[in-house]
Amino acid sequence: MRYAVVSDIHGNTDALKAVIADAADHGARDLLCLGDTVGYGAEPVACLETIGERAVAVVAGNHDHAAAGLLDLRWFNPAARRAAVWTRGQLDANHRRYVEGLPLLTTVDEASLVHASPDRPEDWEYLLSEEDGLAAFASFTSRLCFVGHSHLPAVWSLGSSGPDHIGRFAAWPHRVRLQKGRRYLVNVGSVGQPRDHDARASYAVWDLEARLVTIRRVPYDNGAAAEKILAAGLPTVLAERLAGGR
Ligand code: ZN
Repeated sequence: MRYAVVSDIHGNTDALKAVIADAADHGARDLLCLGDTVGYGAEPVACLETIGERAVAVVAGNHDHAAAGLLDLRWFNPAARRAAVWTRGQLDANHRRYVEGLPLLTTVDEASLVHASPDRPEDWEYLLSEEDGLAAFASFTSRLCFVGHSHLPAVWSLGSSGPDHIGRFAAWPHRVRLQKGRRYLVNVGSVGQPRDHDARASYAVWDLEARLVTIRRVPYDNGAAAEKILAAGLPTVLAERLAGGR
């Protein structure tokens, strides 16, 4: 069994389609979604519907909650707030009900899925440093925990041979062999708005039998996604950042 683990699609269907095609090429047809399916991008409804059809497990992100009216928009910067208000206007009552019904944390096989942090998921804390990630192990008991939220792919692990953290990968794809006696926290990066100065979409293939997580990058037409953002009248910065992956 292989799952494609996706996060932070942010209304970007061009990136989502490229990731789904790449995942199928690598034997992963079922998706696990870590939230922020909407917000920033111009096609929130198409992304929600694709995830609704294709994902076998989905958790909510802060931008999903914002779009459904479950989050105070004062927490957002001005561009994010404008995009959240616009996204709210795109969703109908069924979409809102769907988002309201999503859990903040769920488990699939031996993995926990959560958008931000397994420690108080509703606080939307960012796991950025080595210390942030290692501290989060106290808040889940599964062997694996997949997160998104920062849009920065990273891996932390903990076991008898000590802690480990990789915040920048030397090469792509980045393979994580799941060793016996170790636990792992994996940030799969962002499908629709990468921020590690690599414009390609980021996601992971989790192979249960091979005990392997592979974080992959997929080129997509970010110019087309940027044009849709401008055509929708969303903030220019949200279009411009896609080409630089920032
Ligand atoms: Zn996000």
